Amino acid sequence: MSILVMKFGGTSVATLDRIRRAAKRVGREVANGHDVIVIVSAMAGRTNELVGWVEETSPLFDAREYDAVVSSGENVTAGLMALTLQEMDVPARSWQGWQVPVQTTSAHASARIEAIPPENIMAKFAEGMRVAVVAGFQGISPEGRITTLGRGGSDTTAVAFAAAFGAVRCDIYTDVDGVYTTDPRITSKARKLDRISFEEMLELASLGAKVLQTRSVELAMRYKVKLRVLSSFEEPDETAGTLVCAEEDIVESNVVAGVAHSRDEAKLTLTDVEDRPGIAAAIFGPLADAGVNVDMIVQNISEEGMTDMTFSCPVNEVKRAEKAMADAKDRGEIDFGALVADTDVAKVSIVGIGMRSHAGVAAKMFKTLRDEGINIKVITTSEIKVSVLIDRKYMELAVQALHAAFGLDRAA
Ligand code: ASP
Ligand code: MG
Repeated sequence: MSILVMKFGGTSVATLDRIRRAAKRVGREVANGHDVIVIVSAMAGRTNELVGWVEETSPLFDAREYDAVVSSGENVTAGLMALTLQEMDVPARSWQGWQVPVQTTSAHASARIEAIPPENIMAKFAEGMRVAVVAGFQGISPEGRITTLGRGGSDTTAVAFAAAFGAVRCDIYTDVDGVYTTDPRITSKARKLDRISFEEMLELASLGAKVLQTRSVELAMRYKVKLRVLSSFEEPDETAGTLVCAEEDIVESNVVAGVAHSRDEAKLTLTDVEDRPGIAAAIFGPLADAGVNVDMIVQNISEEGMTDMTFSCPVNEVKRAEKAMADAKDRGEIDFGALVADTDVAKVSIVGIGMRSHAGVAAKMFKTLRDEGINIKVITTSEIKVSVLIDRKYMELAVQALHAAFGLDRAA
């Protein structure tokens, strides 16, 4: 017996009609001989609505109750999907996270899956159930409370089930037909990738290519889960979607696999910071404690024992960062001249495992931006990625130019 995991995102279960369409696909896989675990998201827009209700009711909400509320959208679609399958004479049953149970940490609103004991579901498969429809995004804490996995978390549910059940594959049905070389809304020359490595996908996911939750890619890499991203609006064939797989399974690839962007970035500079051992810890410790997701960091050249420290973070975390720095200054932990925030920046990145073995990739990126007259404000690199911060108004232009320069444009 082979188990297949099929995950349907919010747009794929947005209406009863779409649930029926999705159920038909599931029915086909059952007819192909698979036992199927279906992971569902909430109907499109529902989770946002639930989050809104929580925030309106209680601005400083108790995260346990937030989870109790926002997890409910998936309960609805799980039950509806099971009913739809039953109407098609496919033996199906729905499962909420706690019933499986999907055991998670107690970090409410951003819990991690610790274990998924397969026994309960396997026992039902043994009795003739062919489809287990599981509510994504949710689990149960050691204290017995409902948890959620962070926004986009049903991708992670799906991969975790594929790992726990040794599934032949994990198919993620979404509203795009795969992973693209860049955002098709920015350039019509973006191309769908047939394959991409886990490492590249991880960089693209965390860089704002919102196809998969980052955590789901990490899990897939760790447990070698074959992950396929495909559209629920098109008829699947052999080449449908994008396979996210191990590097060894990619025969030939471009040096740069994709160009990613992240629009809502901010650049913050602390001026006149004392250049002494421990200063970075004194700055970034309080920022981390305040929940500021610092991305790029640059320490400028030191002059007479003083330096400037520049970092970037999401634009909606600037206020928190400013407060954390002001508080640390008040406590006497750090001293600085000013905190200068530039909230009109965007990040553009090139990603590709081919960079490991090719020289001159970064230089080509910088030349391309120069030719477009785009000024680079901050640069960071990793083994398979180069990122730059630029003025937000040039973001589209930068993505288009880099996409062309690295040979990613679709042939006209
Ligand atoms: N419904 C949840 C969200 O919108 C989880 C998911 O769809 O992955 O974040
Ligand atoms: Mg999603």
